[in-house]
Amino acid sequence: MFNKRVKIKELLSWQPNNQEITVMGWVRTFRNNQFIALNDGSTNTNLQVVAALGVFEEELLKRITTSASLKVTGVVIPSLGKGQTLEVKATSIEILGDSDAEKYPLQPKKHSLEFLREKAHLRFRTNTFAAVFRVRHTLAYAIHKFFNDKGFVYMHTPIITASDAEGAGEMFKVTTLPFDNPPRNEDGSINFKEDFFGRNTNLTVSGQLEGELAATAFGDIYTFGPTFRAENSNTTRHLAEFWMIEPEMAFYDLEDNMQLAEEFIRYIIKYAMEHNREDLEFLAQRLTEEEKALPQDKRSEMGLIEKLEFVINNQFEKITYTQAIDILLQSPAYKKKKFQYDVKWGIDMQSEHERYLVEKHFKKPVIVTNYPAAIKAFYMRQDDGCEPGKETVAAMDILAPGIGEIVGGSQREERLQKLEQRMQEMHVPAEELWWYLDTRRFGSVPHAGFGLGFERLVLFVTGMTNIRDVIAFPRAPKTAEF
Ligand code: ATP
Ligand code: MN
Repeated sequence: MFNKRVKIKELLSWQPNNQEITVMGWVRTFRNNQFIALNDGSTNTNLQVVAALGVFEEELLKRITTSASLKVTGVVIPSLGKGQTLEVKATSIEILGDSDAEKYPLQPKKHSLEFLREKAHLRFRTNTFAAVFRVRHTLAYAIHKFFNDKGFVYMHTPIITASDAEGAGEMFKVTTLPFDNPPRNEDGSINFKEDFFGRNTNLTVSGQLEGELAATAFGDIYTFGPTFRAENSNTTRHLAEFWMIEPEMAFYDLEDNMQLAEEFIRYIIKYAMEHNREDLEFLAQRLTEEEKALPQDKRSEMGLIEKLEFVINNQFEKITYTQAIDILLQSPAYKKKKFQYDVKWGIDMQSEHERYLVEKHFKKPVIVTNYPAAIKAFYMRQDDGCEPGKETVAAMDILAPGIGEIVGGSQREERLQKLEQRMQEMHVPAEELWWYLDTRRFGSVPHAGFGLGFERLVLFVTGMTNIRDVIAFPRAPKTAEF
């Protein structure tokens, strides 16, 4: 058996007492031909391994270079050096894999995030990305724990779907037909009958519709899986492949839905604060350093830890869409014509408007409800008693400082007639969605749900600013390396 190592994170919590141990990891630095800073990915804190002078062959020492991998056996002793309480005095050092220092792409200095994006295969070996991806892991775990503890059933909804009716975004096509000469119908259109599934299929943009089917049997379900949108928007908040969490709950109205979303966000942030403190403190410091380069008014008002604590301890603001528009119309930014896009009732708020509300006006996360029906999806529940021309739906978006929309959700329309009428108005093909409409035919219930973009949440918690830095191998326009 090879793997009898102690992880460095664990080891660093010990009382040094001449324990004989084995550690394995990658060299970060090697000083004075004597002090190895070893990292195994369990923590950003390196282990100091001491190769006492004269004990090891010169040949071996030469091979201890940045990112070489080592197996070290030695004894744990108190450290006299600054910055650590213990160190490992090596009795044997084995090089598992050499690393040519001349060719290794990452130097032991600060690299820009842009540079590291080009080296995404190695960027986990930097402190910043190691911290980001450990936090990402913790958040994913906390999400499953939150729902599991509440008795939700985890559903795996399909990745390949035939319905393109949802309208959440541009879709990627899935086909086995040849690109150069696809079979055609008499009118020249492509004959999908000859395709693998015998029909036109796509990568899913959301698991919601299938999620609703499960919710109307299990009560409470959630999905957590990849979704795909061929949106050609080169922003710091959009990916072509991202992970989404979509809980769907029977017997929930909009109010219940908002309450769950808020409790959920608080819970997972708190969980990360409790279980990943060291990484979050590292990221907080990184953010402060990075923002030193910005003019005062562009810097965050709160440090990262402070911001997360604030979110855990304060209720989100709740306003209707109509109130949001009024606030924007009254704002100095609007009056001084600082907004690029126009503001009036009925608009789909642009990110500049959302950011004004959360960052300037309320300075905290905001839940906006009851949006105009015309700008929202067909399945959202129509509000009763609206003024003609001001029809709204029971939608809710959660907007977060620095990110914008992080959650989009609604109470779903459970009344068959109203749903069918809405589908007709919005040209959603009811015959393709016969299975969805069946939930409204057989034991329909009030129900609600929301979608949370996982990477947007990771951005918020880590204080990173580009969504491509919180997913391992980003997929975006013209970006699919690795
Ligand atoms: P936006 O207005 O920001 O494009 P959206 O209205 O298209 O978002 P929804 O269809 O409601 O978003 O999707 C639910 C959630 O998924 C959003 O609240 C957001 O957190 C996330 N999301 C949407 N599109 C993307 C994307 N391209 N990349 C990463 N996350 C996304
Ligand atoms: Mn979008």
